[in-house]
Formats: sequence, C-alpha cells, structure tokens
Amino acid sequence: MDIISSPIEMQNLCRGIIMQGRSLGLVPTMGALHKGHLSLMQKARQQNDVLTVSIFVNPVQFGPHEDLEQYPRDMAGDIEKIEAVPVDILFNPGVKDIYPEGYSTYVEVERMSNALCGMYRPGHFKGVTTVVTKLFNIIRPTRAYFGQKDYQQSAIIRKLVKDLNMDIDLVVCPTIREPDGLAMSSRNSYLSPKQRDAAAVIYATLTLGKNLITEGHRDAKAVQEAMLENLKKEPLIEDIDYVAIVDTETLSPIEHISEQVLLAIAIRIGKTRLIDNIIV
Ligand code: AMP
Repeated sequence: MDIISSPIEMQNLCRGIIMQGRSLGLVPTMGALHKGHLSLMQKARQQNDVLTVSIFVNPVQFGPHEDLEQYPRDMAGDIEKIEAVPVDILFNPGVKDIYPEGYSTYVEVERMSNALCGMYRPGHFKGVTTVVTKLFNIIRPTRAYFGQKDYQQSAIIRKLVKDLNMDIDLVVCPTIREPDGLAMSSRNSYLSPKQRDAAAVIYATLTLGKNLITEGHRDAKAVQEAMLENLKKEPLIEDIDYVAIVDTETLSPIEHISEQVLLAIAIRIGKTRLIDNIIV
C-alpha cells in the first residue's frame, strides 16, 4: 500500500491511474476505523480497479467547543485494518498540507447545510464540503463512498456534486450497527459502559417511528412526539438536539407522510453527540 501525505504527489499518482483507463474508488474518512468504514471500503474494492482511502481529521468541520483535540486517532490500527481490505493507496495529509498558510477558499451548499445538524453545528457542513471538494480535486475519483449513517452529509455532497458539475459517482452504503442497533461510530468510544447501553435508545426510537408509519400513521407531528417521548424515558440523555421527519432529498420538514421520509435523531449523552437515521 502506498501511503502519501503530499497533495501534489497524490494528484500525480491518481492522474496516472485515470490516464491508464483504470477506475479509482475513494473512501474519505477521519480514521479511528470501525466496521462501518470497512464496509464502505469493501464495496469500493468490488467496484473499482484501484482503491484509495483518505484519513484526515478535518479541523474546519469542528466548531470551537467541539471534540477536535479528543477525536480518536489510531493510525497504526487503521493501517493494519485497511491493508487487510486491501487498500491500494492511503492519503493521509497533515493539516498544513490541506490548509497551508493563508488558505482562504471555502465551498458551501446553502440551505441544506443549515438544516438538522447544521442548526447545532454552525459551519460544520461548510468544512465538510470544502474538504470533500479538495479531496475530489486532488484525487478525481471515479466513485466516492459515503455512509447513510451521516445521511445529511451524503445528501449535501450529492447536491455539491450536482451543482458544481463534478464528474463523480456517489455511492451511499447502509449503516452498520452493533447487535443492539447502535450505529457504529468513532465517537462511541467516548461512552462509558452505562452510556453505551443507554445509547441503544436511539435506534429503538427510530424503529418505533418506523413501526408507527408502517402501521398507517401519517401525521408527522404525532410520530415525532411519540419518538420524543421514548427518548425522554432514557435519563442518561442530556440533550435532544432534534427528532426530525424530513424529505429525503431536500431535508425540509414533512407534515403529512405520503412518501419516503427520513427519520433522523441527534442527541447528547454526557458530552458525546450521537446521530442516527433511517429511511421509511
Ligand atoms: P467519519 O470517519 O466518521 O468521517 O466517516 C467516514 C465515512 O464512513 C462517512 O461516509 C460515514 O458516513 C461512514 N460511516 C461512519 N459510520 C458508519 C456506519 N456505522 N455505517 C456505515 N458507514 C459509516
């Protein structure tokens, strides 16, 4: 596996691959890899001649009081995991490689970036779309892989690719879960054993919402209320950022459920912010 930190070197290597007519898959990550990340890599491995993974904890997508410093990092463990996939190229730039002195260009998808998580993490998606644009420009992948776990992120990146005419196929992969339904996340490592058990209420609540809808409930407000009540039963949840029922494409709130909707939850257990969603 090639391990590259220089954007120029990465760009040259990737241009060579594309010029040979080989397809190039990209899985962008922030590292601390788990089975969710690996499922994206396995899918990308099947669909492309060459597989690239990026590991970059992007400071621009963290707010001033968020967990940038504490964010789990495990490069040795990550390399071992991705070599087993196997991955051909690891792009692991430093912060100065991506944001050199005097850096001043940002990419923002308006409106969608202010919904849901955007309301609680101002500037977060601007950081995501900026770094993803840079990764796409450096690598020019044939296909890029994202997890449904971060549904809003994938919807915003889909809009970015469309609006900016980027010639990249996006592949959104299903959420990989623990046996009790908790979506795998690098941030789950922050949870104490008791908090970890309590976190199962998130998926249980999404399932409750899904069951109400499949039983025939069509009033989004009523379904949302029932979901909120269920979350409130868990005393270790300190804050409920949102329980939302929204359009799967625009992320705008739905009142009457008549077609596919996204059920999405963001809560805090202790200092740990957890998100999850399902499409019904
Ligand atoms: P992150 O390292 O958290 O930025 O995640 C990198 C990619 O992995 C994103 O596209 C995430 O949506 C995806 N991902 C994270 N957790 C999961 C999961 N449990 N199942 C599937 N994909 C995931």
